[in-house]
Amino acid sequence: MIDSHVHLDADQYPDPSGAIKRARDAGVSAMVAPGVGPASNLAVIELARKFRGVILPALGFHPERFEHSEDDSREVLGLIERDSICAIGEVGLPWYGERANDAAVLDAAKVTLARFAHAAAALDLPLILHAPHARAAEALAIIREAGVRRAVFHWHKSDEQTTRAIFNAGYFISLTPEVAYRARDQDLARMLPANRILVETDGPWPYGGQFAGRLTEPAMIKEVVAAIAHLRCTTFEEIAAATTANARALFRIRE
Ligand SMILES: [Zn+2]
Repeated sequence: MIDSHVHLDADQYPDPSGAIKRARDAGVSAMVAPGVGPASNLAVIELARKFRGVILPALGFHPERFEHSEDDSREVLGLIERDSICAIGEVGLPWYGERANDAAVLDAAKVTLARFAHAAAALDLPLILHAPHARAAEALAIIREAGVRRAVFHWHKSDEQTTRAIFNAGYFISLTPEVAYRARDQDLARMLPANRILVETDGPWPYGGQFAGRLTEPAMIKEVVAAIAHLRCTTFEEIAAATTANARALFRIRE
C-alpha cells in the first residue's frame, strides 16, 4: 500500500524513522511526503534522501499558510525539477480561515496555482491539490486550462457534479481516515470508480472515530483500505491492489 499524502517533516512527529518503520511493518511500501513551504520542502528532500524509494518527495506551497510570501512561492517554483521529485504539491486554493474569503487573497492564490499548474504541465509532473469544498471546481478549471495531465485532489470534499468532472477528466481523488466514520466521505468512497481512488493519512492531522486520541501515522493506511473495502462490499486485497496501482500510475512509481 502507498500513503499518498503524509507530512512526515512536521514537528508533530517526534520520531519519523519509527513512524516509517511501523508503516512498512503494516504493509505500506511507500509514502508521498508533500512539502508545504520553503523549509518544509528542504526537510522533505532530506527525508527522501535518507529513505530512498520509500519516502517520495513533492515540493509545494500550501495555500492556507499565509505566513509565506509571493517571493517564497517563486523560490519553490525555482527549486522544482523533474528528476528529484515525484510531484508538485501540496499547492491549491485557500478555503479555511478568514483570509481565505478575501477576494484579493483568493485571486492571488489562483495566480500562484496557475503558475504551479503550468510548471507541472511543462515538466510532465503530477499535482497534489489542496482544494476543499467549492475550491475544487475552481482548481479543476485552472489545472485543465494549464493542460495538467496528472493530479490528485487530496482529502476531497465537494459537490457530486464537481467530483464527477474531476474523475471524468482522469484526475484522482484521495480518501483519508475520515472514510471510516464520516458519512460524507463514505458516500464518496462508494461512488468513485475503483481506478480513481487513492488513500492518504494527511498525518499528523488528528482524526475521530476509531482513530481518536491516536497520533496519525502512515501505518493507519491499512485501516483506511479496510474501511473502503467494507463500504464497497469487496475485499481488503482488492482495494489495496487498486489504490496502490493508482498511486503508482499517478506518481510513476516503479515496482
Ligand atoms: Zn496536507
